[in-house]
Amino acid sequence: MKQLEERILRDGRALNADVLLVDSFLNNQVDAPLMAAVGKALAGAAKELGITRVVTIESSGIAPAVMTAMALDVPLVILKKSTSRILKDDVLQTEVFSFTKNAAYQLTLKKRFVLPGDRVLLVDDFLARGEAAQGASKLIKQAGASVAAIGIVIEKAFQPGRAVLMQKGYRVISLARVAKMGEDCIEFAEADA
Ligand code: 5GP
Repeated sequence: MKQLEERILRDGRALNADVLLVDSFLNNQVDAPLMAAVGKALAGAAKELGITRVVTIESSGIAPAVMTAMALDVPLVILKKSTSRILKDDVLQTEVFSFTKNAAYQLTLKKRFVLPGDRVLLVDDFLARGEAAQGASKLIKQAGASVAAIGIVIEKAFQPGRAVLMQKGYRVISLARVAKMGEDCIEFAEADA
């Protein structure tokens, strides 16, 4: 997605060799028109897949995912990263290790919002090692639904996430694929949409 690549080049900053900061348009401040374009692009790439639900992980996945759900005209379900007392009943949980936070969290799905037979488009902001996507996919499958595709805003193509997910049979749709990044350079590999 050209518009997204241009924005990453303009405003993205490599924190180190592994972590890309896009806090001005995706993670802290959200550029809503850009997210609307992201949602349209993901929805367009998944339009033949019979998607019945979009699922994302709080919090940075929500902006692109809500736009994708709107473009597909299906509900959006948010997986939480912590348990609270009001989340106790009717939940599925799995532990996910966050490489950026260097800590594990309990990814939590409220079961009644993903139905057996649902065809899910899983949307997240970043793909790095594939831990978050694998955890989310596990919960979606435990709920009796299937993961029709995994839609990613920014994939770090130099990390193993895509290969891990594809090896497990998932279809990955990334709008921007960062092949290489350093202090003054960000290079892209060919994106999926
Ligand atoms: P994975 O589970 O694929 O290793 O990492 C994906 C998750 O970690 C995403 O949900 C995202 O929140 C976070 N993440 C991974 N790499 C980056 C990065 O370079 N920048 C930001 N802002 N988040 C990242």
